[in-house]
Amino acid sequence: MILGAGFGGLELATRLSEDLADEVEVTLIDQSDSFVFGFTKLDVLFGRRNLEDVRLPYRDIVKPSVEFRQETVLSIDPERKRVVTSGGEYEAEILVVALGADLAPEATPGLVESGYEFYSPQGAARAREALATFDGGAVVIAVLGGFFKCPPAPYESAFMLHDFLTQRGMRDACTIHLVTPMPKPIPVSDDVSNAILGLLDDRNIEHSHASWVTSLDPVAKVAHLEDGRALPFDLFLAVPVHRAPAVVVEAGLTEDGWVPVDAATFATRFPDVYAVGDVTSAPVPRAGVIAEGEASTVADVLLASIGGGPAPAPFPGEVICYIEMGGDTIGKVDVNFLSGPAPTARFTPPSLESAAEKREFAASRRRRWFGHE
Ligand SMILES: Cc1cc2nc3c(=O)[nH]c(=O)nc-3n(C[C@H](O)[C@H](O)[C@H](O)COP(=O)(O)OP(=O)(O)OC[C@H]3O[C@@H](n4cnc5c(N)ncnc54)[C@H](O)[C@@H]3O)c2cc1C
Repeated sequence: MILGAGFGGLELATRLSEDLADEVEVTLIDQSDSFVFGFTKLDVLFGRRNLEDVRLPYRDIVKPSVEFRQETVLSIDPERKRVVTSGGEYEAEILVVALGADLAPEATPGLVESGYEFYSPQGAARAREALATFDGGAVVIAVLGGFFKCPPAPYESAFMLHDFLTQRGMRDACTIHLVTPMPKPIPVSDDVSNAILGLLDDRNIEHSHASWVTSLDPVAKVAHLEDGRALPFDLFLAVPVHRAPAVVVEAGLTEDGWVPVDAATFATRFPDVYAVGDVTSAPVPRAGVIAEGEASTVADVLLASIGGGPAPAPFPGEVICYIEMGGDTIGKVDVNFLSGPAPTARFTPPSLESAAEKREFAASRRRRWFGHE
């Protein structure tokens, strides 16, 4: 049983179907009727694409030995590998938790009343409506928690906002200020961090790193920061606090908020229960490419244990991240988080070629997971 059909769940179901179809029956559960790539939420936010156009319906998944069910997971008993959903009760032989991270806008006082989170598909669509009627002023883009998906995304949103406002002839009537608890944009790479900081400065985007927004005053329209500053805003765009889904916490799978896993195999402390992706506390960033790589490692682990193959290599933590850097160009970072004593990263400056590569990245997953040509 795979709980959650996001980056991790989709890749694992695909690998198991490809490599072990005769030996497994995979039930893939998700509460939603469709998958949305994280990065397409930014396209929705800036009106480049409609929400309906970026949804990939789960009904299109047709794979040997995989059955998708649209149900909500209500409880998980990891000792017995028993799962209760809105559709019934299941007993699994192998359970993989890939339920991602939930967003908690209500965790920041004043955000729900006076700001917009843009990290969920619905949130991005709501923020887009606010942007459509925005007629200038102070925009604050703020990261509100220490663990969040896709570390480059707040910067990407700032660059895209700059372009959006420039194209509408409004940039001079606006300020943009990015506030984040991160000490620098991409901690594993000074090259990427410096490139991002340079682009922010070139575009006159203010930035406050190592800074926490503690609350918003919906009446005065001011964001209060932990260091005592108060930032006035006319539009507040938020990366909200992230949390493990309550059902995972209630199952006793978490420690300090997230699911601890063996970093080589993604096994939890419960036999035959694995966890991958944003829901874990693996020492890697929260990203789709990472969740996908972890899922592929779990597939190798299962292939070895069910199919009798050799013990697999541990998850290498090697990924390529594409970063929107404005003007339709994309920068690329080849990161290796786990193979050496410290993470390494190689930066390829923004180009249209990398933009084409990113489009192919998405197209290849649409083909592989959903059969969309
Ligand atoms: C704006 C933005 C831009 C991003 N850009 C990138 C990028 O360029 N590259 C990149 O690699 N990553 C990017 N990401 C991050 C990426 O989307 C996530 O890290 C990735 O989706 C994590 O995969 P996952 O499988 O762990 O979880 P998810 O993909 O979040 O999947 C979890 C699934 O579990 C389901 N679920 C949750 N609770 C329940 C329940 N109780 N019952 C049933 N189903 C449930 C959810 O519906 C969801 O489908 C971006 C994210 C955002 C928000």
